[in-house]
Amino acid sequence: MSGLLIENACVAPVAGPEIRSGYVLVDGDRIAAVGPMSEVPEAAGATRIDGSGCLATPGLVNTHHHLYQWASQGLAQDATLFEWLVALYPVWAAMDAEIVHGAATAGLGHLALSGCTTSSDHHYLFPRGRGDLLAAEIEAARAVGLRFHPSRGSMDRGRSRGGLPPDEVVEPLDAILDATAEAVDAYHDPSFSSKLRVAVAPCSPFSVSADLMTAAAELARSKGVRLHTHLAETLEEEELCLKQTGVRPVEYMEELGWLGEDVWVAHAVHLNDADIGRFAATGTGTAHCPSSNGRLGAGVARVSEMLRRGANVGLGVDGSASAELTGLAGEMRQALLFQRAVNGPAALTARQALELATLGGARNLGRERELGTLEPGKLADIALWRVDGPFAAAVHDPVCALVLASAQPPLARLLVGGETVVQDDELRTVPQDAAGEAGVRAQRRLRRLARERGVNAT
Ligand SMILES: [Zn+2]
Repeated sequence: MSGLLIENACVAPVAGPEIRSGYVLVDGDRIAAVGPMSEVPEAAGATRIDGSGCLATPGLVNTHHHLYQWASQGLAQDATLFEWLVALYPVWAAMDAEIVHGAATAGLGHLALSGCTTSSDHHYLFPRGRGDLLAAEIEAARAVGLRFHPSRGSMDRGRSRGGLPPDEVVEPLDAILDATAEAVDAYHDPSFSSKLRVAVAPCSPFSVSADLMTAAAELARSKGVRLHTHLAETLEEEELCLKQTGVRPVEYMEELGWLGEDVWVAHAVHLNDADIGRFAATGTGTAHCPSSNGRLGAGVARVSEMLRRGANVGLGVDGSASAELTGLAGEMRQALLFQRAVNGPAALTARQALELATLGGARNLGRERELGTLEPGKLADIALWRVDGPFAAAVHDPVCALVLASAQPPLARLLVGGETVVQDDELRTVPQDAAGEAGVRAQRRLRRLARERGVNAT
């Protein structure tokens, strides 16, 4: 057979028991078999990867991001969410397709190096006349080689209509719906092996009209694609929602038809007991973004309680402007520490944190049949972490060495559909230095274009 055989690794399949010395056999873009070395198949003709000293896990799934923000890191460092948004909207208004391409190349390369094999992106700013921003990030994802779930975001409620963003960065409702339908038609691939699926994602209740939320849900359901938005990120948002609508954010979403198995939201920090019950009952998923929530002082999502009550939770790094240089592997630790700091040491185990980053993420994206565990028949998206280094080898438990260490273990190999994207901590699909430089150029260009518009991006 042709294919790959990872041998002698500790295998943490997430589904089923861990195997201290095991193998993973890959045929084409799928996992063919997983088991202990005592039962390793001959697999003549397969390329062998020695996994000695390594931990094999499913590739990590990132379920919330704004890749363009790679170009605006380090700004408004001590601001609340609303202050931060008000400071950054005018900077972002200067972006163009060249900036988005550079930022996405660097951002996705950085994510791959942190073990991420599938990433979503939430792009919701489309200033007029700046090129095809969605196409730019899709092109970057193809080059880096990650499975990509971009969402066509939108805002239609500028300041003149009681929203938070300046009017110059919002779009008319009809134009949004047309562009969103076009994006789904042009790019969405529903196949099992898909590397590109599109979601519909109005930005947030405080930047989007109720009409757009409702129409977006109808559009997504008519096309069979998923829905995504920001929700319940800060108490300020909750107060604004109560003032403007008379109900709490989750109740507002339910009124608009925005709870369901085809919906996942970013943050969900401020949920009460009833809200968590509605998420669990309706199958609504959450992208938990602990570093961003900490950076903006938003609060700590009730992840332990959500899991206990059967609500799905995945992880997200969120946009890099609110979580500078955040890799996905580190969010497992951040999630675990947040829950334990609030609820005690039994609040979240290392294995639960790994499950959030893998199967939880796959569920958020509607891909639990294809991704999120190492099982025969699933796509061969695999991270191979080196846990035998001179310091890490002192940790008895490889999963603990991955999740609890503040420094991510070296990434020996990252496979997406059986194709190598990272080897020995280096990108193999695009030149790593060039990817980093593309991000730097994007940042410089955005600052220059913002300055030319009279905006101080420092
Ligand atoms: Zn976000």
